[in-house]
Amino acid sequence: MPHTVDDCIFCKIIRGEIPAAKVYEDENAVAFFDISQVTKGHTLVIPKNHVENIFEMEAETSSTLFATVPKIANALKAEFEPAGLNILNNNGKQAGQSVFHYHLHLIPRYGKGDGFG
Ligand code: 5GP
Ligand code: ZN
Repeated sequence: MPHTVDDCIFCKIIRGEIPAAKVYEDENAVAFFDISQVTKGHTLVIPKNHVENIFEMEAETSSTLFATVPKIANALKAEFEPAGLNILNNNGKQAGQSVFHYHLHLIPRYGKGDGFG
């Protein structure tokens, strides 16, 4: 039974059923380090509300989620002192989505040779 709240790995992180290194949490959103860091500080930001991707997302979920992003980006900037930061989001298998609970990748950038892009 793929893609349900019961077996969704990010819903399990939200429910505390599997561990994650959380960097931010409020009533609508959670941010935690990606298990596979493409650069130091690579973070995922997700809505607590299970939506598969952008095509399913209500405007309200989008606005509460995006309201957290500047705070999280600035926390990563303070902690890791990157030169920049990419925000990426894959929607659909053909676009590279592998976990079917909406997520933003926050990828701190350290310049040439930082391992990404
Ligand atoms: P996508 O390919 O769907 O855009 O990104 C999914 C991301 O989730 C990948 O970068 C992958 O490393 C990360 N990921 C998958 N499973 C887990 C997990 O159990 N914990 C954490 N922290 N990240 C995960
Ligand atoms: Zn989910």
